[in-house]
Amino acid sequence: MKQTLEQTLRAAIRTIPDYPKPGIQFRDITTLLGDARAFRRSVDELVHPYAGMKVDKIAGIEARGFILGGAMAHQLSSGFIPIRKKGKLPHETVRVAYSLEYGIDEMEMHRDAVKEGEKVILVDDLIATGGTAEGAVKLLRQMGAQIVAACFVIDLPDLGGRAKLEALGVEVNTLIAYE
Ligand code: AMP
Repeated sequence: MKQTLEQTLRAAIRTIPDYPKPGIQFRDITTLLGDARAFRRSVDELVHPYAGMKVDKIAGIEARGFILGGAMAHQLSSGFIPIRKKGKLPHETVRVAYSLEYGIDEMEMHRDAVKEGEKVILVDDLIATGGTAEGAVKLLRQMGAQIVAACFVIDLPDLGGRAKLEALGVEVNTLIAYE
């Protein structure tokens, strides 16, 4: 019998208790990425709502958003924008500070990565408090991007990230929730 998406994902995602610090249940998607069927199904489901739509670019958040975003960009025939931790990009950047479930950091993208009015889908593996994705939305909008949606394999709804993005007027698409 064909597994539901939920069953496929739940079986493929590994949970590491107390990583990177006590109290955090780390949802590890490397096991999903290593499972050909689960990886393909995840990417298919992430792009499904946007099939046939002209999406100029997929913006992936370092590092797991790069893997999902590259595959999505290929499927949607879109370009790809890397949003990286500070100091990694070689050309002129725009930068924003953001808060994480476990710390504070800064992220950057190239100033010329997106043109005014371009349609962009943001992607990362997981949304928790939404601080990271909110930072990425700010960067993209600052450069004139029109954000079509933000996509994540995993939602941690108790931490409020989805609601935070929706309050900014961003459509949010997630595949599985862990309460
Ligand atoms: P946040 O900014 O709080 O929404 O956190 C999302 C970012 O942190 C994403 O890039 C995730 O990969 C990572 N992250 C946060 N919490 C977890 C978790 N429990 N398991 C795996 N990754 C996480």
